[in-house]
Amino acid sequence: MSTEVKHGVSRGDKKERSLHGGGKLYIPAILQGMMFSIKHVFRKKVTKMYPEEKIELGAEFRGRPVLVAENGTERCVACGLCARACPPLAISMQASETDDQKERFPERFEIDMLRCIYCGFCEEVCPEEAIVMSPEYDFNFTDRKDAIMGKDRLIMDKEVLKPRLDFLAKKRNANYGEEQYTYDPANNYHTLRNRKDS
Ligand code: SF4
Ligand code: SF4
Repeated sequence: MSTEVKHGVSRGDKKERSLHGGGKLYIPAILQGMMFSIKHVFRKKVTKMYPEEKIELGAEFRGRPVLVAENGTERCVACGLCARACPPLAISMQASETDDQKERFPERFEIDMLRCIYCGFCEEVCPEEAIVMSPEYDFNFTDRKDAIMGKDRLIMDKEVLKPRLDFLAKKRNANYGEEQYTYDPANNYHTLRNRKDS
């Protein structure tokens, strides 16, 4: 008994799909495909004409990292943890002392946006909720120096960052069960002297 074998399927094999009538002309399949396309023509369009049209992204989106400002001052206490955790070594800072309650602040804080990989590790390790991933994704540079963002471009008010801060608190609280975490500005003071005064 001879059976012709094509693409590993024996013609005599009962499992082979047999087409009848219109199926042989692929008409049902063509109509099905056309119906699918027509249905999508009338659906709400999701394409945005970027960059003319900006995209609103949710709080879960990780845009460029920025420094959170509380009452006009950055929360950062220049502990250096974010710089240690940053895989591509994009963060650098110079700590200095101040007479206000938190005593330390970053005199210089820079993020090299050509190095940043938007991993969010800096945000995760910061004990002060002082650096978070902002909703900003739309920026460009004309030279390499331009890509190094200093405090003037990094500081952003906490109200602008509220959706992200709320999102982070919610994510954290999921690990704590009943206990709810809220940012306490008093935790931003780091000396015995200041704790006693406050
Ligand atoms: S981890 Fe937070 S507080 Fe520490 S240097 Fe970085 S941004 Fe500042
Ligand atoms: S998002 Fe990641 S790569 Fe970018 S500055 Fe933070 S830790 Fe570094």
